[in-house]
Amino acid sequence: MPMDVNANIPSNFIRNIIEQDLSTGKHKKIVTRFPPEPNGYLHIGHAKSICLNFGLARDYQGTCHLRFDDTNPEKEEVEYIESIQEDVRWLGFDWGEHLYFASDYFDQLYHYAVELIKQGKAYVCELSGDEIREYRGTLTQPGKDSPYRNRSVEENLELFERMRNGEFEEGSHVLRAKIDMASPNVVMRDPVLYRIKKVPHHRTGDKWCIYPMYDFTHCLSDAIEGITHSICTLEFENNRPLYEWILEQVFPEPHPQQIEFARLNLSYTVMSKRKLLQLVEQGVVSGWDDPRMPTLAGLRRRGFTPAAIRDFCERIGVAKANSIVDYALLEHCLREDLNMTAKRTMAVLRPLKVVIENYPEGQVEYVEAVNNPNDPDAGTRLVPFAREIFIERDDFMVDPPKKFFRLAPGREVRLRFAYFIKCTDVIYDDEGNVVELRAVYDPETKGGSAPDGRKVKATLHWVAAEHSLPAEVRLYDHLFAKEDPNEGDLLENLNPASLEILTDARVEVNMQDVQPGEKFQFERLGYFCVDLDSTPERLVFNRTVPLRDTWAKLQRK
Ligand code: ATP
Ligand code: MG
Repeated sequence: MPMDVNANIPSNFIRNIIEQDLSTGKHKKIVTRFPPEPNGYLHIGHAKSICLNFGLARDYQGTCHLRFDDTNPEKEEVEYIESIQEDVRWLGFDWGEHLYFASDYFDQLYHYAVELIKQGKAYVCELSGDEIREYRGTLTQPGKDSPYRNRSVEENLELFERMRNGEFEEGSHVLRAKIDMASPNVVMRDPVLYRIKKVPHHRTGDKWCIYPMYDFTHCLSDAIEGITHSICTLEFENNRPLYEWILEQVFPEPHPQQIEFARLNLSYTVMSKRKLLQLVEQGVVSGWDDPRMPTLAGLRRRGFTPAAIRDFCERIGVAKANSIVDYALLEHCLREDLNMTAKRTMAVLRPLKVVIENYPEGQVEYVEAVNNPNDPDAGTRLVPFAREIFIERDDFMVDPPKKFFRLAPGREVRLRFAYFIKCTDVIYDDEGNVVELRAVYDPETKGGSAPDGRKVKATLHWVAAEHSLPAEVRLYDHLFAKEDPNEGDLLENLNPASLEILTDARVEVNMQDVQPGEKFQFERLGYFCVDLDSTPERLVFNRTVPLRDTWAKLQRK
C-alpha cells in the first residue's frame, strides 16, 4: 500500500528500510521524531530533518513526534521552544498531540540509571573532566580503567543517590557506563551518563541537580515513545553502538533503529547554532530573524515560502555522504514558487525623474497592467501614468556602450504597459551629475506598440512621480563572502556588502495597504517582500532574491 501512495516520490535508502520493515511486518506503523535541542532557532539544515521525519510519517501513514531534547538547562530558553514550534508549523507540519520533552522522562531515566547500576553496568566516578579525557586514550591507544570502576553496586547506588540529593559539587562526580575502556570505538569507553549541574531547569525547576547526557537520554526517549526509526545525522554513527548498548541492557524489545544520513551544508552560510548565536550576540545581524540568517525565521522574513523550502529539501534528497549544496539551488526553488504565486508590480529603486514635455500638465491616466502572467485568475490592475515619472537610474546612460539598449539621449524606449518615450534632453547639476531627463511620448503607442510597426529595443519599468509611494528597500546578499565560511575566521569571512539600504525607492500607489510578509515581483528587478518593519506611513521591502537564476543557467550548460 505505501508503494502506491509513493509511486512518484524518489526512493532513498531510508525509504527502502521502512518499506522493508512494513512489508516484513517488523512494524505495522512507523513512528519518527524530530528532536531539536531548544538552544537556538531552527535553520535550513533542521528543515531537511523536519521534512524527512514528518514527510516519512505522512507518506507511510505513521506518526512524527516533536520532542525537545532539553537536557542542558544552561543553554536552553523558552523563547527557543516557542520559535521552534512556530517554525515547524510554518513549514507545514503538524505533530498533533505528540509534543514531548525529554525532561518529562527524567524520573524514568533516573530509574533506568539505577537499573544499570544494579546490573553492575554503571558506576560513580570521581575523576575530573580532564582526567576522564586523559584516561580515555585516543583512536590509536586504548584507555585506562578509572580507579573507581570496580566499586560495589551498593556503594554506587548510595553515591548516585547522594549525587541526586545535591551532596556533591559540580564536576566532582559523574555516573559512567561500565563498558570497555579498550574498545576501538572511543564512544564505548565508559561514557558519562549523568553529570551534576546545580542549575534550575525551565520545566523541572529545582527538582534535579543531576542531568542525563545526550547519549543516555536520546535512545531511551526514543524507546519510551515507541519510535521505530530514529533518524539522525552522520556524526552520530559512532554513537550508534552506545545507543543500542543502553537499550539492550534496560529496555524490552522492540528497539528503535538508529539510521544516519548526511546533514545539509549550504554554501555561503553556516549551520552551527553556536556560530549563529555568536552572530546574534555580537550584533553582526539584527537578530535570529535577520533576513540574511539561514534560520527559518530569517528565511521567512526574507520572503522564502514554506513550499520552496520543502521543494528544496525534496530535491537535495538524503544520502550517506556529506557535501555542500549550492545556495543557488535554494534560490532556484524559491523563484520557481514565487514565479507562479507572486504578483507583479513596478518599483523604482534608484529613481531618475523624466519629464514628458508633450504630456499635458495635471493629467493622469490609468494603464492596465497584468498582475501575474502565470496566473490568469490574478487579473489586472490600473497604474497611474502622468507627465512626470521615475525610471531606474541604471536604465539611462549619457554615452551608452554598444550593448546598452536602454534609454540614452535621442533614443526611444517602451515604458511597460504605457507608451514609447524618446529622450530629448539631459539636465545636470553643478557637479555634472544627471538629475533629470526630458522626453516626449508618442500618444499613438498606448499599450506598448506603434501603429507604424517601428520597434524599440528596450522596455523599462517606471512609476508616476506624484502618484507613487516612497519606500525603503533593503537589498540583501550572502552574509558571507566565502563559499565555506567555516574555513578560517568566521567574522573575517563576512560579506561587507550583504546589506544595502535604499531609502529613496518609489513603488506603485496601489501598494498602500500591503501587509508584512506579502510577496511581489518588482518587474525586471526580482522578488521582494514586505518587511516586518513596514507600516503604511513607511513602507519597507526586503529583496528576497533577484531574477537571474544562476542555478538554472548552470544546468543548461
Ligand atoms: P548544533 O550542532 O549546531 O547544535 P544540532 O544538530 O545539535 O545543531 P539539534 O537541535 O540537536 O541541533 O538538531 C535537531 C535535529 O536536527 C537533529 O536530529 C539533527 O540531526 C538535525 N539537524 C541539525 N542540523 C542539521 C543539518 N544541517 N542537516 C540535517 N539535519 C540537521
Ligand atoms: Mg544536537
